[in-house]
Amino acid sequence: MKKVLLFLIDSMMPDVLINCMKKDKAPAFQFLYQHGQLIPDCVTVFPTMTASIDCSLITGEYPDRHKVPGLIWYDPAERKMVNYINGAWPILSMGLVQCVRNAIYDMNERHLSKEVRTIHEELEEMGYTSGSINVIAHRGLVRHKVHLPFVVNAVTGFSMNEMVSGPTIFSMGTLVKPAIFREVPWNWSQSFASSLGINDSYAIDVLIEIVRSGRQPDFTLVYLPDNDHMVHKSPHLAEEHLAAVDKQLVRFLQTFDSWEQALEKNVIILVSDHGQTVIGSTEQHDIDLDHLLSPFAIHRLESAHVQGDELVICNNERMAYLYPLRDELLPQVIQAVSMDRRIDLIAWKEREWVKVMRGGENGVLSFRRGGSLRDCYGNSWTVDGEGEVLDLHRSDTGVVFFDAYPDAFSRLYGALFSQDVPSIVITAAPGYEFKSKNMPTHLGGGSHGSLHKQDSLIPLLIAGSKRPFPQPARLVDIKSYVMAELAARTVLA
Ligand SMILES: [Zn+2]
Repeated sequence: MKKVLLFLIDSMMPDVLINCMKKDKAPAFQFLYQHGQLIPDCVTVFPTMTASIDCSLITGEYPDRHKVPGLIWYDPAERKMVNYINGAWPILSMGLVQCVRNAIYDMNERHLSKEVRTIHEELEEMGYTSGSINVIAHRGLVRHKVHLPFVVNAVTGFSMNEMVSGPTIFSMGTLVKPAIFREVPWNWSQSFASSLGINDSYAIDVLIEIVRSGRQPDFTLVYLPDNDHMVHKSPHLAEEHLAAVDKQLVRFLQTFDSWEQALEKNVIILVSDHGQTVIGSTEQHDIDLDHLLSPFAIHRLESAHVQGDELVICNNERMAYLYPLRDELLPQVIQAVSMDRRIDLIAWKEREWVKVMRGGENGVLSFRRGGSLRDCYGNSWTVDGEGEVLDLHRSDTGVVFFDAYPDAFSRLYGALFSQDVPSIVITAAPGYEFKSKNMPTHLGGGSHGSLHKQDSLIPLLIAGSKRPFPQPARLVDIKSYVMAELAARTVLA
């Protein structure tokens, strides 16, 4: 039976992929494209940050169901900020105990809702085998021991005797190694400086060993992060960065007798998690939230919750969650951010309604689930107010479709209803990002997080299967596509 391999390539963008193939910079992508279907405008999840997107990819649900709101968010029950430091493993050495626990353990074992099932859980319950290489969201049926390097163990005092769960074949850098016959021989990609194996080269090494071991699972999800780091630094060289990813894919394809044989044995799916937007180079392109919200007593990331704090800022690059800690502060916080035109969207919830406005403008759009209005994804809504706020369009048959903000209703709803607390979502206009204490900024570089199509449209390339992908395409539909693909092949076999 054919296996299914899903590569998640961080920050791969549709135009960059197409240009790379046109200019013959990407032979592996080109080969797969010639044997498959390319959807250039698949819609990802909001906020456009890897952590919550990974949870959506493996559960097929938006954050209102899987309950992981973003990369950085506030947990009112614990009165703590959660930060998954996605991909930035070297930070471990700085002793961020909280982050280590959040990223390795809490997301999968505590935050990711037990009400939803991951693709690994469902497939393995059905008798298939499943695998995950370097993906931060990986909950499964099998318990695995984590091997922290001595230095991290010593700094954090964090004993990982608490095992983490994953699918049968589970690899997380050098921290969790899959049970295959031969370990990947040591090389620099496994060093501390190379993020302990959370990089493209090591992920492909592990994948090659798994294939060679004869124990390749029916489904394997592989995360390739390097493109994201590079595009953040030099977005104008995005084609070169994606060409480097292609070299890793070539290395994988060459482990077979021929590239055709790789497709005889596998359905190969490549998808991105989000795009990036180029940020202007002058300081005014960083919207300073500490300054803008200085009238409020802002809760500090590094401190325990202090009585008297009024507001928590959780900065997700081009998106931020603002949490007023007393109900009466919500309108005041909205007022404080509403005058700045660099802020693109301001959204909050009022009971079952979502309210949205634009920075520097007065118009308000309200929508809630259920009602007679249909969107192009088949969801029903009741809508009131100014459609221009979210750039809404109507077809001849009255169906709502989206342009600047793809799948805007479900995605905004997903973020705001991921938690049962008052919160405000703000996004930065194209060319801008949010700045707040201790958070990385990218003047002149790339950044993401917003609802805008620049951050939200991702390419989806499927090779080795004739099964059409449902359109208009969304990342949350990949899980059911993979499961249908395996089910059909089981019947055939
Ligand atoms: Zn990124």
